[in-house]
Amino acid sequence: MKYCNQCSAENTFSYIDGNNRFHCTICNTIHYQNPKPTATLIIMNQNKLLLGKRDRNPAKGQWGLIGGFMELNENLEQAALRELYEETQLRGAVKSIIGTTSHFNTIFGDVLLIGLIIEIYDWSTLKAGDDISEASFFDIDKLPDLAFESHQELINIFKKNYTRRN
Ligand SMILES: [Zn+2]
Repeated sequence: MKYCNQCSAENTFSYIDGNNRFHCTICNTIHYQNPKPTATLIIMNQNKLLLGKRDRNPAKGQWGLIGGFMELNENLEQAALRELYEETQLRGAVKSIIGTTSHFNTIFGDVLLIGLIIEIYDWSTLKAGDDISEASFFDIDKLPDLAFESHQELINIFKKNYTRRN
């Protein structure tokens, strides 16, 4: 973002067309930046939620929802099921999209978390892998502190709209 990809002049970061953005004052090109979408997974077994202990920074050693960034040439469902398999060795299906939350100024930039409910076909293959060191079930009403507030917000959406309260 330092240099204009149209004319190679140095960009400035300042107000243009309604927002602060990188843009080129020579050729007037605006260099838009957008949040990165993630597939963030709500995986329930009875009333227990599956969480992963993060094996990498940010927030290494803390618990969070399974999931990760979408990659190029994959749709949201493919990203969800790929992350599911990489982190847990489980296979399943996307049941629904529950909503989104946002997380600003992470080391990866701004992130759009898209929450999906996943149904698991067979729990017997569960094994932590890839970005997590451990996968465990937690009572959804007694969760540990999570790595990211945006994960807790997705869980709150899920609890409010998708679980029956007594
Ligand atoms: Zn330019």
